[in-house]
Amino acid sequence: MPELPEVQTIVGDLKAAGIEGNVITGAKVFWTRTIAEPSAGAFCRRIKGQKISAIRRRGKFIVFDFKKGNNLLMHLRMSGRLHLISGESPRKKHEHVILSFRGGKQLRFHDTRKFGRIYLTTDADRILGRLGPEPLADGFTRKILARRLGRRRRQLKPLLLDQTFIAGLGNIYVDEALWESRIHPCRLAASLTGPEIRALHQAIPRVLKRGLKNLGTSLGTGKANFYSIARHQGRNRDELKVFRRTGRPCPRCRTKIQRIIVAQRSTHICANCQVLETQGSGSQNS
Ligand SMILES: [Zn+2]
Repeated sequence: MPELPEVQTIVGDLKAAGIEGNVITGAKVFWTRTIAEPSAGAFCRRIKGQKISAIRRRGKFIVFDFKKGNNLLMHLRMSGRLHLISGESPRKKHEHVILSFRGGKQLRFHDTRKFGRIYLTTDADRILGRLGPEPLADGFTRKILARRLGRRRRQLKPLLLDQTFIAGLGNIYVDEALWESRIHPCRLAASLTGPEIRALHQAIPRVLKRGLKNLGTSLGTGKANFYSIARHQGRNRDELKVFRRTGRPCPRCRTKIQRIIVAQRSTHICANCQVLETQGSGSQNS
């Protein structure tokens, strides 16, 4: 699933392709459930003629701002991908929604597993307002993270995946950030010490920025993998320290990386660098 660096890479590529300022001349929907709202028919009517004033990211959403106060929101979920191609190209099997632009290009929403969703709304805040803080924004201070963690008696792994707690993280970057900060994913949020919170607050932006610099993480060449709009893949896989590196040595201490399950999610840790026991608290929480 694309996370913050992958979605930001797509946004950057859409901007570079000149989509900002362009006008949507029409839409076609081949799988109606991809359109979360309004109905597919209303979507096609209302999107026609909309001029895109800006493209940005909020959490894992791609946000298109229109001149008239509407927003188009796209969430790629498990396997969604965008193809920006000539309108002449024949439609591929999993291209469920097609937006046509002035000049002849089309943006096609390709989604083998069909979990991806598109919203056209006059009230984007209803959807985006639920999201937690952006980890790369200036406002994401250590104090804010500490306050938010201190209120939760929940394991860190599911908490960091929760988009209402912090926006944009998924399985890859949560595992990487917890390894960087030497914190076990089963630790309870409220049990973190001051130095641990500082380490986590530094690690989250560090792993995200590394992902961004490498234009995202693609784990393989299969259909479910991350591709940006020109079908290029990110290079960040080579820089992952624990994610999907089960059995390989920890880059810090050479202990073999383990795969464990935390809150039903596959999780990768170095059991030597990330210990569950803390002084005094001894949380038995696995
Ligand atoms: Zn280690």
